[in-house]
Amino acid sequence: MPQASGNFAGRKPACVAAAVMLAYMKPMKRNILLHPDPRLKKQAAPVADLSDELRALADDMLETMYDAPGVGLAAPQVGILQRLVVLDCVKGENERPRPLIMFNPEIVSSSDQMNVYEEGCLSIPEQFADVTRPAEVEVRWIDQNGKEMQETFDGLWATCAQHEIDHLDGKLFIDYLKPLKRQMITRKMVKMKRELARA
Ligand SMILES: [Zn+2]
Repeated sequence: MPQASGNFAGRKPACVAAAVMLAYMKPMKRNILLHPDPRLKKQAAPVADLSDELRALADDMLETMYDAPGVGLAAPQVGILQRLVVLDCVKGENERPRPLIMFNPEIVSSSDQMNVYEEGCLSIPEQFADVTRPAEVEVRWIDQNGKEMQETFDGLWATCAQHEIDHLDGKLFIDYLKPLKRQMITRKMVKMKRELARA
């Protein structure tokens, strides 16, 4: 998710599409699928066993996410329909990064208290909108060593974990918006993809 906003801050709106296109044309470890794409709407399959191939995929995804730059990425976004997400919501420049690799992540409980965050998505570049979600979630997952983990997240981490887990169920943050806003974003994306294909 949450694309680090302001990547292209300061540029005139007319240049945004060009800047996004450049970013998405540079070689990335894994290519990120752009909405609309049928693969982003599919249910991902649970990971049955942790192969070296899947661990390598997780490492590639982290590299792609940091490169983009973003704070989360789900396997369906790179065309792999398996339940795997990576995230790192540490934003401060002087803070130590905290890359998390989650296989089969599951939300085991959510707070009643809600939180509104302006979300973005690496599959929907340069489009942002407020989404309301539970402020705290308890997440259970299997880490890269096969160990079962459980942790309660709040703030950006909570939003990001929910956004990424949604991707595993074919759900995008724009699915939380009113139809008109969602259609507007989709139309912009169709146009951007057409321009990218032509470039
Ligand atoms: Zn996303």
